[in-house]
Amino acid sequence: MLSVLHVDHNFFYKEIIKDIVKKRKIRYLSVPTPQEAFKVLKNNKVDMIMTALEFRDGKGEDFIKALNESSYKDIPIIVLSAKDDMETKKKVFDLGAIDFIHKSRFLDGFKNYIDRFESADFVYEQLKERKIAVLDDNKLELKIIQKIFELNNIRNIDYYTSPNELLNKKEEYCLYLIDFILPTMSGEQVILELRKRYKYALIIAISAMDNQKIISNMLSSGSDDYIIKPFNENVFMARLKANIRTFLLLQELKEKNVALQEMVKIDGLTNLYNHKYVVERLADEIKRAQRYNKKLSIIMFDIDKFKLINDNYGHQFGDTVLREISDELKFIIRGIDIAGRYGGEEFIVILPETDLKNAVKLAERLRIRISNIKFKEKNIKVTISGGVAELEKENVFELIGKSDALLYKAKEKGRNRIEYMN
Ligand code: GH3
Ligand code: MG
Ligand code: MG
Repeated sequence: MLSVLHVDHNFFYKEIIKDIVKKRKIRYLSVPTPQEAFKVLKNNKVDMIMTALEFRDGKGEDFIKALNESSYKDIPIIVLSAKDDMETKKKVFDLGAIDFIHKSRFLDGFKNYIDRFESADFVYEQLKERKIAVLDDNKLELKIIQKIFELNNIRNIDYYTSPNELLNKKEEYCLYLIDFILPTMSGEQVILELRKRYKYALIIAISAMDNQKIISNMLSSGSDDYIIKPFNENVFMARLKANIRTFLLLQELKEKNVALQEMVKIDGLTNLYNHKYVVERLADEIKRAQRYNKKLSIIMFDIDKFKLINDNYGHQFGDTVLREISDELKFIIRGIDIAGRYGGEEFIVILPETDLKNAVKLAERLRIRISNIKFKEKNIKVTISGGVAELEKENVFELIGKSDALLYKAKEKGRNRIEYMN
């Protein structure tokens, strides 16, 4: 949980901040003086300090200076002030504050900070959970990196001193930190190889050489970023977090894409497969059945006198009927069967490895079960008529045509029945 320490003798702001943070998962600590702030810091983990510039018994500038000379120097300090002149601003920035919010813009300013902190906190939590690999032939450099990770409580890391050791391990890490200058194999080669294997992994090159050529080489070999040695802990961590943020966004995008690909196959009303997908699948299944010499049957069925249901009970109830029939259909078929909404109130079921006899059995069961559905809202019975066809030598449209013709025969013969070719 994030914790914010607010140092201000003005209680008006305390109440406003309390109100903002209580709606979020933030711990709010408030003290009126710098002296008391140090007491709180001693006993609590604090992620951000907000301070006023004027105190009854001292100046905010001295407080910021004292903080920056203490072991709390890495906690970001934001100044909250009624003054707005450049001179004051420059002074507090020089002393080590990271931002300055004028009291008149306090509410928005503070909310922005909290948003930023929460998102940084989320990224940090994500970073802690990911597997990291570090490759550096220099053991001392490895120790430095290890120290930074330890200080930041990041522990899911494997350290490597040899490129082959890393490359021979077939495990994929989320984040790779690769030294660019290595003795046996160049960092460039390692990065090229990793990138070839893991398209989406995060790869950051590290190097002590700060020249343009090396930097452009590091980036063009496929790394996402580079960090120059010696590391500044804050910059190092900020770089990792910035990269993880991009990585997470990319992952979200990938997941959304998968969901989208699934969605374009599905009919929105019934959650069955849609016309386009089901016709494509039928073409595939026909090919498969012919290649492996397997049976394949299809059922086409259509709701009887559905127009009357709409006319008598309304379109919405008609939709409910379509959904309930679809649920029944999904319930009755096997995992390998493919059920789709072919058109308005016409359905198709593809039954791989099924002969005519078994397909008819299933169609009959479906017909009976549908005629027994009890609709919650209206006490009516709904029936279907169906045509069942087994694949002989037809293509997709011929096979659909065959079962459709049988479906119409069932309608002609009085509905609520299944027709098939003997
Ligand atoms: P038949 O027994 O010969 O099949 O008669 P029918 O009334 O079922 O056939 P018809 O083709 O005349 O009417 C089909 C009706 O299905 C007309 C159309 O408004 C309705 N329909 C098609 N799609 C939907 C839908 O998504 N929701 C609802 N509520 N009705 C739909
Ligand atoms: Mg109909
Ligand atoms: Mg119809």
